[in-house]
Order: sequence, then C-alpha cells, then structure tokens
Amino acid sequence: MKPIAEIFPLLKTGPKQVVITTHQKPDPDAMGSSLGLYHCLTALGHSVTVISPTNWASFLNWMPGCEKVVDFDYKRPEAEAILQKAEWIFCLDFNTPSRAKNMAPVIQGLSCVKILIDHHQQPEESAFTYGISNTAKSSTSEMVYDFITDSGNSDTINEAIAACLYAGVIGDTGSFRFPAATGSVHAMVAQLKKTGFNHTQVHENIYDNFLENRLRFIGMALLHRMEIMYEYNTALIAISKNDLLKFDIKTGDTEGLVNYPLTIQGIKLAAIVIDRDEERKWSFRSKGEFDTNTFARTYFNGGGHYNASGGKSSDPLEKTIQKFKQSIKENASLLQ
Ligand code: 5GP
Ligand code: MN
Repeated sequence: MKPIAEIFPLLKTGPKQVVITTHQKPDPDAMGSSLGLYHCLTALGHSVTVISPTNWASFLNWMPGCEKVVDFDYKRPEAEAILQKAEWIFCLDFNTPSRAKNMAPVIQGLSCVKILIDHHQQPEESAFTYGISNTAKSSTSEMVYDFITDSGNSDTINEAIAACLYAGVIGDTGSFRFPAATGSVHAMVAQLKKTGFNHTQVHENIYDNFLENRLRFIGMALLHRMEIMYEYNTALIAISKNDLLKFDIKTGDTEGLVNYPLTIQGIKLAAIVIDRDEERKWSFRSKGEFDTNTFARTYFNGGGHYNASGGKSSDPLEKTIQKFKQSIKENASLLQ
C-alpha cells in the first residue's frame, strides 16, 4: 500500500469515475466520512457514487447526499454496473474486505485503484493500492478531514461536509468523551464550525430521532435481558429474534445499547449479542485495559478497536452465549 499523499496530485488530473464504500450496516462515522468525501470529490469535478454494502439506520437519512447512496444488497445489478466502471474505489472505515459482506468478492475482483482510509486495528494492507491506516485517529471522518486539508482542498469544506464529518466524529468519540478525542479533533471542529453548520441539529438528528418502541425495547432489555457477572466485571445483554419481532426493531435501533452496562461501577467489559437472521452479531465495549479487538478476533471472528469491537457467530444464540461465558473465564485475570 503506497502512502495516501501519493494520490493527492492525481485528484486534479481530470475527472474520474469514483466509488466510495464502507462497512456493512454503516454507522455515523462510516456514512459521515463517505458522504463528506463524496461532496469534496464531487466539487473537484469527479463523478462519484457512494455504495453501502447493506441498508443503514434511518437516523442517517438526514445527511446531505444520503438519498443518492446505493444499497448494494437491495440494488445489486445497478451497484455492480457502477463498480465495474469505477477507476478509483475508496474504502472507508473498514480495513478487511469481509466487512463489506456480499460486496467483498466484488471489491476483491476489481482491478481499479483501491484507496484505504481507516482507523481500525490490523489492516489488510495488501488489498489496497494507496492508503492510510491510523489507529490513533478518533474516526474515519477526522481522517477524511485530514485528507481534504492535506491535499489542499479545504476550500471545498462547506456546511454539508462539516455536518457529515461532525456526525462521524461524535459517533465514534461518544460525543468527545473517549481518549481519541484529542486537541486536534477539537481544533478540527472549530474549523468546521466556521461553515455555519448547526451542531445541535446534528445531535438531535442522530440521538433524538427514534420511535417509542425503541425506548420501550431498551427498558425491557435492561430489565430482563441483561446479566451482570461481577466476578468478571462483565455484563452481557442477549437479544432474541422474538424480542426483535415483538418490538419491531429496525437497523440502528440497537445501536448504543451495549454502552449502558458500562455505567455500572466496576464494569469493565460490556457485550451484546443480537440474534440476526444470518448470524449472531456481537458488540463489545470495554473501559481501560481490556483489549476487545484481540478478544473479538480470538473468540468471535471479529475485530475493531481496543475499547470497541464487534464479531459474529454462526452458532445458535444459546451456544454462542455459552462460548462467551467460557471465554470471559479464560480472560478472568485481564478482567480484574
Ligand atoms: P459495533 O459494535 O458498533 O458494531 O462495532 C464496534 C467497532 O468494531 C466498529 O469500529 C466496527 O467497525 C468494528 N466491528 C464490528 N463488527 C466487526 C466485525 O465483525 N469484524 C471486524 N473486523 N470489525 C468489526
Ligand atoms: Mn469509525
């Protein structure tokens, strides 16, 4: 993988067919960074399409340009035709093709220029032509801001770009509370604010945009589906298919639920498992010195960041829960 700076001069050598893609079930950082870059490259004269491997939470639909994003799962022939014409494909907020789900083999089969911008651990660098991987960065949105400014294109940063990038940053920093929310992140926000974008509105769009059923579901989950294992300073929330059906839970409605148990004194590791049709999807969050990336890779075919990771299992719900309980026993000394 060649350094990202080597692509900067090529940004102004005539219009290119560009695809921007990100991980399955994009979160605010995945969608915000993709659309932030979309607006910048469009302003530079390129022909750009954002393709998401799957659908996304409706609380992202306010983002400028989101209405033009192509859902690969839903519009596969259209998406494949666009991908085949692409001269450049930007891969944002993921670093291994498997995170692009059904789109992974298509990306792997493309011979065009592939560019990585990402902040997760252990990138598959050989899969990309150019790129930057920096686990110290708060978010891919911050890295897209760096990409835009370092390539000499800060003049393209308008209200739309600012709102998209800000959404990504608050999503991945827990609204500036995690350690990765450095002074540079705050300095970036100060620059973004100069465009006049409304940061209060962005918070409301993301966090105050649900239906009653989701709050009732959270109440039920915390009351009946959360198990605290004080011996291991660990909490587990397990959500069955029936729970999802009963509360009419849609993509995005379970986002953030895994954080609640970390508000209990002493809890070091919080996990949630959701019984999705195709797999049992795990999310892990930790406080302090517990490496969820290694944990997710070792036991649940996943990965991510030190304090926030995800994984998956093809086992039935009960079996994957037992595996989790066994794995925290094996990690007991790290959880003290
Ligand atoms: P979440 O729990 O919010 O789905 O994901 C937490 C972090 O881990 C995110 O940065 C996400 O991209 C990453 N992540 C989630 N699931 C997986 C997975 O199955 N594999 C890998 N490599 N990363 C994941
Ligand atoms: Mn991210």
